[in-house]
Amino acid sequence: MLPRCEHFETGFEAPAPLGVCPTCVEMGSRWHHLRQCLNCGLTQCCDDSPNRHMSAHNRATGHPMMRSAQPGEDWRWCFPDELFFVPGPDGYEVIED
Ligand SMILES: [Zn+2]
Ligand SMILES: [Zn+2]
Ligand SMILES: [Zn+2]
Repeated sequence: MLPRCEHFETGFEAPAPLGVCPTCVEMGSRWHHLRQCLNCGLTQCCDDSPNRHMSAHNRATGHPMMRSAQPGEDWRWCFPDELFFVPGPDGYEVIED
């Protein structure tokens, strides 16, 4: 159950993420890990990257849900609710800290 997040179901089928942050490529910059917006499918870099393009995308657009675009990782993050979701036996569940 996802009682506190109304953003999880985006109604958008995100395509496979890119293998690069296109905004960093354009700037000639580098990134650490990649994230993908689940509201529009854009691939951007994580908050450990110098340019933090996914957070900037969230602030600029208000798109709330993103997921890891790292191979082998399957977690999601809701920006406005600050909720971290991981796959569980009955679908995604919230990790409490
Ligand atoms: Zn939410
Ligand atoms: Zn970037
Ligand atoms: Zn987006």
